Amino acid sequence: MGKELYIQSATENNLKGITLRIPHHRLVVVTGVSGSGKSSLVYDVIGREGQRLFLENFLEGHPLAGKKLRRPRAAVSGLYPVLTVNQRSAFRSQRSTFGTLTELYDYLRLLFARLGKAPQPLPRQDRSLFSFNTSAGQCQACQGWGSATASIRNCSSPISL
Ligand SMILES: [Zn+2]
Repeated sequence: MGKELYIQSATENNLKGITLRIPHHRLVVVTGVSGSGKSSLVYDVIGREGQRLFLENFLEGHPLAGKKLRRPRAAVSGLYPVLTVNQRSAFRSQRSTFGTLTELYDYLRLLFARLGKAPQPLPRQDRSLFSFNTSAGQCQACQGWGSATASIRNCSSPISL
């Protein structure tokens, strides 16, 4: 993998065949006037191609991976698999976390189900085993709330995402 993300001839939505290089391991901000194509570049080119790579590389064989994503209208190289986080208002509950509100949690559960090992022998390992919202996956001491009280000494919940 090179030192940069290289996007060539991007024509997604209103993009006019732009070519650009974005360095890896840097915080990069995309700015511009309304309608200049910021979202098209970030979500429809980089995000779409990165998510496609994510599904292909990490979830091969999983039903979600069968959902073929269209390649963006651009030549993209040097891109690592990507998780996109959209800004939006979402339903929040007491059990909401950064992970559940952004859907990162869903992807992590899929990854855990695919790559992880269930705590006990089970005929089928699926993502519900890695959810703090299901009885199969949650810590029995705190029922998935993730906080320990004086009476809960053996909480096994991971750090909340
Ligand atoms: Zn717990």
